[in-house]
Amino acid sequence: MKSATLFLLFALAVSSHSQTSANTAATSREVDAVYPAAHDFYIDLHQNPELSSHETQTASKLAARLRSLGYEVTEGVGGTGVVAILKNGPGPTVMLRTELDALPVEEKTGLPYASKVHTKDDSGREVPVMHACGHDLHMAALLGTAEIMAHSKDTWHGTLMLIGQPAEETISGAKRMIDDGLFTRFPKPVVGVAFHVGNELPAGQVGITPGIYNTNADSLRITIYGKGGHGSAPNTTIDPIVIAAKTILSLQTIVSREVKPGEMAVVTVGYVRAGTKNNIIPDQAELGLTVRTFKADVRKQVLAAITRIVKAEALAGGTPQEPLIEHYESTDSVYNDPGLAERLRVPLEAVLGKDNVIATEAITPSEDYAFFVEQGVPSLYMSLGGADPQKYAESKKSGNQLPSNHSPYFAPDVDPALHSGIKAEVAALRNLLNGASQ
Ligand SMILES: [Zn+2]
Ligand SMILES: [Zn+2]
Repeated sequence: MKSATLFLLFALAVSSHSQTSANTAATSREVDAVYPAAHDFYIDLHQNPELSSHETQTASKLAARLRSLGYEVTEGVGGTGVVAILKNGPGPTVMLRTELDALPVEEKTGLPYASKVHTKDDSGREVPVMHACGHDLHMAALLGTAEIMAHSKDTWHGTLMLIGQPAEETISGAKRMIDDGLFTRFPKPVVGVAFHVGNELPAGQVGITPGIYNTNADSLRITIYGKGGHGSAPNTTIDPIVIAAKTILSLQTIVSREVKPGEMAVVTVGYVRAGTKNNIIPDQAELGLTVRTFKADVRKQVLAAITRIVKAEALAGGTPQEPLIEHYESTDSVYNDPGLAERLRVPLEAVLGKDNVIATEAITPSEDYAFFVEQGVPSLYMSLGGADPQKYAESKKSGNQLPSNHSPYFAPDVDPALHSGIKAEVAALRNLLNGASQ
């Protein structure tokens, strides 16, 4: 390598290093200034969680805070959804999303601000409520980010669109917001950003997965019909239990024999229900399945194979009627635009430090952010580290897993996680709202 080239590389490295330090320090000061209000908001939300589709207080608190910062706020979008717009001259529209809902989980963290809330769920059952998925932290970060963006309009231009989405846990809120005109009544974003906090990374870090971020999820309920009768006279019956048993075994061949080796696919029969007594052959059997895949074509292949096998086993067993296959719940995997992931890695490294932006693998839980991507909003959905760094290191050493999201013990290390969450959002939004190629 020529010495001139070496010098140039060195100069670039030095300038990008000092630029990084300057960015980190400046953004840290901005985050420190808004942090107390964001943290108070977090504690309030954590102590007052609300179930999916019932986030009325949560939504109105978020709306009021954003309105006081100068955002143009619309409530009641797709149920309890919130849309907050801040216009700042010509430029792209960029969306940042948080969820609003909590879960029917009894908090056992022992934290001084642990939730003690109980309520009635949609079926009228008394249930405990907890922000066991960390959506309270997402809302607090969005508020901190909203304040920084509102007070630094000289650092960006375009339209900032913040959304508070209800009912993520029932994978229904994103679609309801879209159906209620999210992208027609309001400016349609050219790009979207979101993250999810979890114990898979230590607080202070952010994970980026280019391409597929999580799984397609499909829930199926299958009813196999037989002909009931006396357990001592099987010749007078068509036994749906035997057909169900053969069906379950045949379903195992989909992943092992039909899906291309190396492709991700899971077919799980999570429950079997049939019969009441040992000497009665029942007249039907029910199976509950969950199906997980990464790719659309693999998903299609697996769902078609399930239908084919279920029908064929019923036919082979001579059932009086075709089995009923109900596809009662589904969501697509979230696709992270690879170009966007690469573009945003740079400003994220600048504010969090190079070692704190990690390339992460796709995960198996599902989420309904995919509906926004499918509307033509290329996005980056990041993982935000939430684990206490010391506990994280200990768990890596011992192999004992930290509580996952939805656990009654789920408790993110709030200070470092919320600080880095706000920093990451501000860095991403400023990059996207500087009006470059987007
Ligand atoms: Zn969740
Ligand atoms: Zn969640």
